[in-house]
Amino acid sequence: MVPRPRNFASDNNAGVCPEAWEALEQCRSGHAAAYGNDEATRVACDLFRAVFETDCEVFFTFNGTAANSLALAALCQSYHSVICHELAHIETDECGAPEFFSAGAKLLTVSGEQGRISPDAIEHTVHRRKDIHYPKPRALSLTQATEVGTVYRPDALREIGALTHGLGLKVHMDGARFANAVASLGCAPKDITWRAGVDVLCFGGTKNGMMFGEAVVFFDKKLAAEFDYRCKQAGQLSSKMRYLSAPWIGLLKDGAWLRHAKHANACARRLADGLQELGIGEALFPTEANSVFVRFDDRIIAGLYARGWTFYDFIGAGGCRLMCAWDTRFEDVDAFLEDVKTVASANEDHRANIEIMRH
Ligand SMILES: *Cc1c(COP(=O)(O)O)cnc(C)c1O
Repeated sequence: MVPRPRNFASDNNAGVCPEAWEALEQCRSGHAAAYGNDEATRVACDLFRAVFETDCEVFFTFNGTAANSLALAALCQSYHSVICHELAHIETDECGAPEFFSAGAKLLTVSGEQGRISPDAIEHTVHRRKDIHYPKPRALSLTQATEVGTVYRPDALREIGALTHGLGLKVHMDGARFANAVASLGCAPKDITWRAGVDVLCFGGTKNGMMFGEAVVFFDKKLAAEFDYRCKQAGQLSSKMRYLSAPWIGLLKDGAWLRHAKHANACARRLADGLQELGIGEALFPTEANSVFVRFDDRIIAGLYARGWTFYDFIGAGGCRLMCAWDTRFEDVDAFLEDVKTVASANEDHRANIEIMRH
């Protein structure tokens, strides 16, 4: 089947990048030790240590929900709580898995502009209750890049990290789009992780061009104690581990992870700039990574759907999310912009069919 070119629905709608595929092909045949005791897994773990320039513990899970939930479970007892943004994936899109795997730890949501949590919100949440009746704050979860396509800068993260550790909490980072954040900031991976106080990072592979797989990277190695048992119990210990770990070799060994993220970000930038130039749609968030959030009239949304474009309009009141991936082409962006222009000026109205065309 030919992949649909008209797709801005999500970066997990994209296929597998050649680097990940070739790394899989490399270990297609032959026998290797199971459950992670193989050469590919060893090489992949070492590549993470090289990328982060530190000695860290690395585990591989099939998806991000498991990575986040098990990482948070490693930080928390059942009576603890996790501070997170109200839009955080762990709150809105993981079906209660963090609470389930931690056997009851509660998420304490805070609001914050542009998808970011402020130091004030963290302090307020920790200080507002100290009594035995309240689930004790134990961890902070940050999403980088955020759910609305913004990023935390290294200095902001250092401030948050120092504050959070000072309050006795650990720092978890949901990095489903970590690569896009690094590409956007142009910093070293260490500058927005362990150097800024992140204790454990869930590094996304799926949205960066893998077929599946996320890496849980513990910078505080003490927190990784018995994590392998958590993975096993949760059904996340792959017996043919090399097929989960080898694609990371393809992504990490010569920078494909960053190239793909830079490209996706550049597509989003081109899209945001193009819409601004046309003066159509209202930007809802600054484009700092690989997504564009824009408010379109329903008539424009319906017209774009009628032309075969896919994207989410779940943001409410015409708020649309246009997500670019490693395989988005500049010509896809330009064709989309051309259609936005056409639909805006055309004398056509597909609004009656919007429900059928929505996905
Ligand atoms: C996609 C995503 C995840 C992982 O989702 P899975 O479907 O469980 O792989 C986690 N966090 C964020 C912010 C995401 O966008």
